[in-house]
Order: sequence, then C-alpha cells, then structure tokens
Amino acid sequence: MRLLLVEDDKALSRGLKSDLVAAGFAVDQSYDGIDAAFMGSEEPYDVVILDLGLPQRSGLEILRDWRKKKNAVPVLILTARDAWQEKVEGFQAGADDYLAKPFHVEELIARIKALLHRSKGQAAGALSVANLLLDEERQSVATPEGKALSLSGTEFRLLRYFMMHPDVILSKTRLTEHIYDFDSDKDSNLIEVYVNRLRQKIGKDLIETRRGQGYIFKVNP
Ligand code: CA
Repeated sequence: MRLLLVEDDKALSRGLKSDLVAAGFAVDQSYDGIDAAFMGSEEPYDVVILDLGLPQRSGLEILRDWRKKKNAVPVLILTARDAWQEKVEGFQAGADDYLAKPFHVEELIARIKALLHRSKGQAAGALSVANLLLDEERQSVATPEGKALSLSGTEFRLLRYFMMHPDVILSKTRLTEHIYDFDSDKDSNLIEVYVNRLRQKIGKDLIETRRGQGYIFKVNP
C-alpha cells in the first residue's frame, strides 16, 4: 500500500515517514500545495494524509479539486486542535477521516489501516483471505495449520496488496506502483522474484500467473 504524506513541517514529515515505512507502507512526501495536488492526481495512492495549512495552495483547495475531477482516493486530513470548523469543512470538501494535531502516530496508523480496509471492501480488523491470516502488526502471516511465517518488508507489502485485492488480475506494473515509493528503483521484473518467494512460503497454488496479464491471488485455489 502506497501513501502520499502531505505535510510542510519537514521534521514532522520525516518522523512520520519513518514510522509509516516501519509499519509496512511505501511513502511519498510532499511539502507544498502545488506539488501535492500534482502528485495526488498523477500517482495511484491508496491513502493520502493531507495537512490543511500548506504553502501555495491549502489542503482544502486541493481536496476539492481532486473530488471535482472524480479522484476518489481515501483522504485523511490533519487539522488543528479544537478547530471544529476545519473538520466540518474538510468533510464537506470530501475527506474520509481526520486527525487533530498533535496526535500519536499509533492512532494515525490505526486510522490508515481502517481506511484501507474500508476502501477495499474488507472487514475491519485482521485481514483473512484464502485461509491465510495476515498479522499487520508483526508483518507475518499464519497458515491454516496455525504456523506463523515471517516475511521480509517487500514480501509483506506484496502479500498485503494481494490479500486486499483477491480474485483480481494484478499486473506487474500495478503491483510495482503500490508497493514501492516514487524514489525506489522500480524494476517490475523484481515482482516475479518476490512472487516466487511468497509462493515458497504460502504455497504455489494461491498466486496464479496469467501470462502477459499478471497475477491473481485466489480465494479458492
Ligand atoms: Ca502545516
């Protein structure tokens, strides 16, 4: 899952990014309104974290603009403490959730996960597909026999994306776009390598190859 973090306070942004990366997200950062508006329109983010007070263009303006252009990306706004008007305006502009500053990063991560599950039509809480149970806290996966398998960072991001999009053809390009950030060295052939590693851990049958199209994570292999 790939996030856009829009926050002009660079120290805060840096701290949040490292916590979000540790929680298994690919994260791009934006520090002003013009860059944020562009990135949010051009890149396929799974969630945008949007500070409202930004240089050049306000967060509300950007959000209204995205919604006008039918960009439905889930957006969590960061508001000032006690500014209830900001929250109301934010929701009217098309926000999906908010968090008032200052906040604990644990709450931000919990809200992002809830937003992701909701936007992908998954029940809240643990992610369970095809008898596999994904532990997002420990970044591991449990098999039907109850065996916990540890995953590398990339394996976890890839498996979570698969489990959130079961029974859908996912191209290598799409997988690459959602598990790596903008600055990563994105080689879509690497996806093949990681898919094979996942198959060795969770079994060959769960991820089917569709030649020339991509992969399908099967609910009923
Ligand atoms: Ca700000």
